[in-house]
Amino acid sequence: MAALNGAVENGQPERKVPPLPRPLRGLEVKYTKIFINNEWHESTSGKKFPTYNPSTLEKICDIEEGDKPDVDNAVEAAKAAFQRGSPWRQVDALSRGRLLHKLADLLERDRVTLATLETMDTGKPFLQAYFIDLEGCIKTLRYYAGWADKIQGRTIPVDDNFVCFTRHEPMGVCGAITPWNFPLLMLVWKMAPALCCGNTLVIKPAEQTPLTSLYIGSLIKEVGFPPGVVNIVPGYGPTAGAAISTHHSIDKIAFTGSTKVGKLIKEAASKSNLKRVTLELGGKNPCIVCADADLDLAVECAHQGVFFNQGQCCTAASRVFVEEQIYPEFVKRSVEYAKKRLVGDPFDARTEQGPQIDQNQFDKILELIESGKKEGAKLECGGLAIEDRGLFIKPTVFSEVTDNMRIAKEEIFGPVQPIMKFKSIEEVIRRANSTEYGLTAAVFTKNLDRALTLASALQSGTVWINCYNALYAQAPFGGFKMSGNGRELGEYALAEYTEVKTVTIKLSQKSP
Ligand code: ADP
Repeated sequence: MAALNGAVENGQPERKVPPLPRPLRGLEVKYTKIFINNEWHESTSGKKFPTYNPSTLEKICDIEEGDKPDVDNAVEAAKAAFQRGSPWRQVDALSRGRLLHKLADLLERDRVTLATLETMDTGKPFLQAYFIDLEGCIKTLRYYAGWADKIQGRTIPVDDNFVCFTRHEPMGVCGAITPWNFPLLMLVWKMAPALCCGNTLVIKPAEQTPLTSLYIGSLIKEVGFPPGVVNIVPGYGPTAGAAISTHHSIDKIAFTGSTKVGKLIKEAASKSNLKRVTLELGGKNPCIVCADADLDLAVECAHQGVFFNQGQCCTAASRVFVEEQIYPEFVKRSVEYAKKRLVGDPFDARTEQGPQIDQNQFDKILELIESGKKEGAKLECGGLAIEDRGLFIKPTVFSEVTDNMRIAKEEIFGPVQPIMKFKSIEEVIRRANSTEYGLTAAVFTKNLDRALTLASALQSGTVWINCYNALYAQAPFGGFKMSGNGRELGEYALAEYTEVKTVTIKLSQKSP
């Protein structure tokens, strides 16, 4: 096979490496308004809010600031679009799938634009936005496009003279409240299954990062989804977000964000109309490296696992447990990796790490780093902001971390790797599980017995063995304990967007 660098091997013809995609410099933001009924609206209050580029701290543009009246309008539109006999309810299942495929086609067409907007708004490296976020969006849309006409009920044997079957019906109006770390991907994780099952949507993107979500509004219209099927209301959490979670005509809400806000949403749902809730919340994820692991692989995965996306991942490997025999070597190699990590302009193709999202997060991370220093962890590298550069933080590694330290307990959501030591498998299981979270866990070992013992003992929604952040549209994702309720992705997510109806028919005669 020809090597990727263009050299000729085994007599095979040279294979051309496609050029890397380039961001669109000076891209003008076109969509800044509230999207309801396939039209763009100003906010009822007349208010706007700014969105910033976290790399430069410059304002990108002002966005119409949605609040309760705008959410009410969006819900009215979504309700009307869901009504019996509406154009959307008359789109058959196969055609719903076609619409989702068409949306995926447009994301492919506008992939560079969307990745550029995502980088401007979040500060994540452009190539990561292009190859990871956009790739994930397109695959998720296509995956659920395939499901649209395969959502089936069952026939159930009951008494002889009865026929009983179930229908899996759409729920109605679904609210989606999304975070700033993967703005478009988290939206698509909710929108694709919701639409595939035939629901309508009211979406509120995070106030820090509304740009790609609003762009999706223009694509929804272009694809030909009927008006009111997808509505997007940018705005703040306690106003527009709370208006969604307390709304009596919203039947379901899907949220990704902090555990604190997740609790508020569940409370609001129970105080309003008991709307169904799925929550994908925080994590303090153990990454367990056994002495027999492939060390190169484990060091690299643990590094990427915690530093990817500036450390701003609910899946971040932010408690690395390393077996004592290999601890010094693991720390040494992890520090080498962290020191080499390229931090800078996210539009530069070489950049691996951009800025943190905003001043709040930046301050919170630096405060936790200080707590690590004070509580006696050994700072191996980093530990500071990059001077004169806004919101950039040096990749930071702490060794000699103990379980009682704040950096071992609290979600840091920044480029900080705390490394702990363990002696036995029983001990590491106990320590890994002693957290209120349970989102993901990773295990590095070549021993199948150990791998499977850990996979069954770890209390988390996902366990990765000898890999990290291996997420697929086909595989469910979600948390145990306070990391959330319900599952996104895969076939499992269909149940989160459908109601089961039991239909029972009495026959006039018993079957023979
Ligand atoms: P972070 O703390 O990382 O910013 P949040 O959980 O606060 O994460 O934000 C995730 C999403 O939740 C955002 O879209 C935000 O606007 C929204 N949000 C924040 N507060 C509320 C609230 N009280 N009700 C509903 N949504 C909220």
